[in-house]
Amino acid sequence: MDTEFFLRWIAAVTDRVRAERDHLTDLDRAIGDADHGSNLDRGFTAVEEALAATPPATPADVLVTTGTTLIRKVGGASGPLYGTMFRTLGRSIGDAPDVTADALADAFSDALAAIAKLGSAAEGDKTMIDALAPAVPAMRTSFDAAAQAALDGAEATTNLRARKGRASYLGERSVGHQDPGATSMALMIDALRAV
Ligand code: ADP
Ligand code: MG
Repeated sequence: MDTEFFLRWIAAVTDRVRAERDHLTDLDRAIGDADHGSNLDRGFTAVEEALAATPPATPADVLVTTGTTLIRKVGGASGPLYGTMFRTLGRSIGDAPDVTADALADAFSDALAAIAKLGSAAEGDKTMIDALAPAVPAMRTSFDAAAQAALDGAEATTNLRARKGRASYLGERSVGHQDPGATSMALMIDALRAV
């Protein structure tokens, strides 16, 4: 997977975030503050501009620029968390012009650890981690398996009680609603599968 591949992934994520913006915001209205879709749409619109302004030379450049832009443009919990994910992916794959599937799976494993550390969250807390964590081992098999694991993980957050982020203020009342961040994480991994 070369620089062009990673540009196509980020472009696909940008399109999907735009298409799902209102749905993501509605999920966040139920257990948060109704801004998750607009946060990500604003962030990825800025990413699109940043990547067009300074064409990246390597896969890592694409990912680090994406992460840095998200941290700068997206407030709230998800900006720093997704920013850290993309920056860690970029740092982990290094300077190579081409990335193997194994190297990308290693990088996703590093990104999961970085998100969990920053948010001090674990699987089962009803966050984006519940979509990412099952996708990481599945990525050793295929991107299809990873995308399916992420979608299943996101759906399974419906029955969980939130222990991190704004949704945790609702306690038991967070049960019965799918987590917005897990939903957007599954969308990003499904975009990777599609590309
Ligand atoms: P905010 O909650 O600040 O309004 P967003 O609405 O953009 O930010 O994102 C909310 C999502 O962020 C949640 O659905 C959850 O998946 C994720 N999230 C919140 N706190 C954490 C955390 N500590 N660790 C991991 N993910 C988190
Ligand atoms: Mg929110």
